[in-house]
Amino acid sequence: MTQTSNLPRRRFDVVIVGAGGSGMRASLQLARAGLNVAVLSKVFPTRSHTVAAQGGIGASLGNMSEDNWHYHFYDTVKGSDWLGDQDAIEFMCREAPKVVYELEHMGMPFDRNPDGTIYQRPFGGHTANYGEKPVQRACAAADRTGHAMLHTLYQQNVAARTTFFVEWMALDLIRDTDGDVVGVTALEMETGDVYILEAKATLLATGGAGRIYAASTNAFINTGDGLGMAARAGIPLQDMEFWQFHPTGVAGAGVLLTEGCRGEGAILLNSNGERFMERYAPTLKDLAPRDFVSRCMDQEIKEGRGCGPNKDYILLKLDHLGPETIHKRLPSVYEIGINFANVDITKEPIPVVPTIHYQMGGIPTNINGQVVVPDGNGGQKVVNGLYAVGECSCVSVHGANRLGTNSLLDLLVFGRAAGNHIVANLDRAREHKPLPKDAADRTLARLARLESCRDGEYAQAVANDIRQTMQQHAGVFRTQASMDEGVRKINALRERVANIGLKDHSKVFNTARIEALEVENLIEAAQATMTSAAARKECRGAHTVKDYERPADDPECPLGRNDKEWMKHTLWWSETNSLTYKPVNLKPLTVESIPPKVRTF
Ligand SMILES: Cc1cc2nc3c(=O)[nH]c(=O)nc-3n(C[C@H](O)[C@H](O)[C@H](O)COP(=O)(O)OP(=O)(O)OC[C@H]3O[C@@H](n4cnc5c(N)ncnc54)[C@H](O)[C@@H]3O)c2cc1C
Repeated sequence: MTQTSNLPRRRFDVVIVGAGGSGMRASLQLARAGLNVAVLSKVFPTRSHTVAAQGGIGASLGNMSEDNWHYHFYDTVKGSDWLGDQDAIEFMCREAPKVVYELEHMGMPFDRNPDGTIYQRPFGGHTANYGEKPVQRACAAADRTGHAMLHTLYQQNVAARTTFFVEWMALDLIRDTDGDVVGVTALEMETGDVYILEAKATLLATGGAGRIYAASTNAFINTGDGLGMAARAGIPLQDMEFWQFHPTGVAGAGVLLTEGCRGEGAILLNSNGERFMERYAPTLKDLAPRDFVSRCMDQEIKEGRGCGPNKDYILLKLDHLGPETIHKRLPSVYEIGINFANVDITKEPIPVVPTIHYQMGGIPTNINGQVVVPDGNGGQKVVNGLYAVGECSCVSVHGANRLGTNSLLDLLVFGRAAGNHIVANLDRAREHKPLPKDAADRTLARLARLESCRDGEYAQAVANDIRQTMQQHAGVFRTQASMDEGVRKINALRERVANIGLKDHSKVFNTARIEALEVENLIEAAQATMTSAAARKECRGAHTVKDYERPADDPECPLGRNDKEWMKHTLWWSETNSLTYKPVNLKPLTVESIPPKVRTF
């Protein structure tokens, strides 16, 4: 067996795992400051999932309707169902215009208004004057905002001489005896060789784990690798019970149709041809937040008003916008309609269903992107040398439910903030800390087990069963009994993951080995989700449990959101598959706190 001491090593000031929007925003800050930074990615940087983002970036520029960051702050706190930390939310909403203008100055091709300012469209849950009416806040480049943003960031990084390791898969964090993170182990896919990458600071930016579900808008590479790496290294995962279903995934295909469709004026219809959202959300209608709209759609389907022969989908109607608006503002949505549903959206409505889209939880951090863990005295302490940003992190600005456009914003704001914090605090003259003797032992043991297990299960079979289990037991509506059963099933699946074997032992581009390693990350994210969900005995944001729903005719009933007992963040620990909790920060940085109230739209 290979020993740690035999592995090839490389040294950098900073290693970033992930070349999506968050990783590349951070690396840009570092490379521009002259630090030696390496960015690893499983795929070519511009193929990261950020490229698929369609609708826009939230920022209160006020180009098209009156707006300011206080409104954005209020909407985000309310959207989070009061689980978001108000200091982080204030920081994000205040920084938003700055990071958007920076992108503009880097050359990002935003759509324009006739006066030359950035075009902004309405989006779910974004309002003016504290909930009074929809506001135009989503800064957009047609329906290809993520594409434009990721390419802009990549080009700027190339100019700043960031080093990219393309088609490299990070496998494990390396922690020394002080608990400090001193780098990662990584697999070069082309050769199958394992390396040690040493760093004074390591930043995880690996994106979401949306592939723990069967029906997902996420890219196939979104297997939650950063979550797995953190969990295996003894770092807890926060608020993993909260998963966002996007209301408009193409029925049967899962591909996303941006909320920008409804921002531009599209509406949802049931089988009676009724615009049912008017009944549930009289003010915001189809532009209520995603958790809310997804539940209403599910309700319509359950009550027999779904469309189609099996009454199992809802229709999204766009034809009244006219072909000109559709081709100008929603060109990709038009193509998706033709390619994935055989529907010309300029002529007829398209079948949609709520589809898994985004994880609100992740690796706990502070507003500098530093990873934080409980200090044993009721407070939090920083893990030296480790940062996390983007969808894999939980700062937490999205709380129990993210507003659309706030993720691209989160990548920019916290990617930049983490970069700045590293630049300000990294001692360039200091030597790298010595590597512990067992630096790569965990990684090498994982690989050795896969090689030696010759009659084990196929990774694909186990991954499919994880996805089906999550789909069935942690959906839009949950029940206590079903979640408890989900916990048992996922626990059993973890044993099957430990029995995955490889039939193909070749080294060069062995995708079977990569998939098997990814499943070891999927199971961490899935178990974190199921265990955290089954424990939370209330309804909040995207976590809706039938057993705890407040009856519609009894607003005084104690069921529903239970702020007294459950206004707290979940922390899931892999080694023991158990939970601890930490308080929500209700104190913003400079303004008054927004006290909890009932969420109506
Ligand atoms: C279809 C779709 C549309 C969306 N539209 C919007 C929108 O309009 N507005 C909005 O605000 N949000 C939107 N979102 C959400 C948002 O796009 C994502 O949350 C965000 O882009 C995630 O960015 P990230 O930087 O965290 O990670 P990603 O962009 O997912 O990048 C992850 C990176 O990590 C790398 N990586 C992962 N594991 C490893 C490993 N083990 N080793 C090496 N590299 C690794 C990958 O190769 C990749 O480079 C959308 C999401 C989807 C799926």
